[in-house]
Amino acid sequence: MSDPSWTNYFYWLIGLSLLVWVFEILIPWRKDQKIFRKGFWLDTFYILFNFFLFSLVGYNALSNVGVALFNDFLGLFGIQNIIAVEIQDFSEVSQLLIMFFIADFIQWNVHRQLHKRAWLWEFHKVHHSIKEMGFAAQFRFHFMETIVYKAIQYIPLAMIGFGIQQFFVVHMFAVFIGHLNHANLGWNYGIFGYIFNNPKMHIWHHAKDLPEDRPHGMNFGLSLSIWDYIFGTAYIPVEGKNIELGFEGDEDFPEGFRNQTLFPFKKENKNQESKNLKNENKTI
Ligand SMILES: [Zn+2]
Ligand SMILES: [Zn+2]
Repeated sequence: MSDPSWTNYFYWLIGLSLLVWVFEILIPWRKDQKIFRKGFWLDTFYILFNFFLFSLVGYNALSNVGVALFNDFLGLFGIQNIIAVEIQDFSEVSQLLIMFFIADFIQWNVHRQLHKRAWLWEFHKVHHSIKEMGFAAQFRFHFMETIVYKAIQYIPLAMIGFGIQQFFVVHMFAVFIGHLNHANLGWNYGIFGYIFNNPKMHIWHHAKDLPEDRPHGMNFGLSLSIWDYIFGTAYIPVEGKNIELGFEGDEDFPEGFRNQTLFPFKKENKNQESKNLKNENKTI
């Protein structure tokens, strides 16, 4: 587990995917949902694509060479003793826990921005184009998200002194929880649902109809749900088993990988958006 090679990452990803899929098949939440649900093959492709991209871009940046380069870069600005805590003196378990908490909190903040800022939302729409939830849906996201998330997440972690080994373990744990969040499983982990994000909570994040007082959405947690409870963005009004998923206007969103990937870069989409906004303003 502590060997962060590409092949090891790949085997863990496949193993965890199969495990969660078996849960979905044996004890599905929505019993009438097909095992090969809508979007299953598209999402399988996204898993492979985003895995390779994460390996190529993310992994190289996180390698020891990357860390050394990054530290040298900070050194140029005289930022050398930014490591406030000598993290290496802590036990392995506490190091992992600290990293997990910091990384997750950063991701919660990034995720909120993906919803709030119009240009980031164009990229994040890919993830919200899911119409039926299943484990693989976790990996349906635009490749720009890897770049945005990992860059923002990695900078502070590198400053604290975490390396690739810790990152690998924490990342695999997050993949497992993320798979479960999107799985067709009626789980909320009881009292632990206030700590960990879960399928019954995350399905509301994908709700097509947003409550009036939450126009940018809710339940932004990745692995942990505590941030949503602390900052008042948690929302589970009733059981969300059969709510409609998606976003306003998703009828016109492309269904294939290529067009979804190109979507945020296409000018006409942006023009269409601003036209819609103008029309909305007119009616107000
Ligand atoms: Zn989202
Ligand atoms: Zn999701």
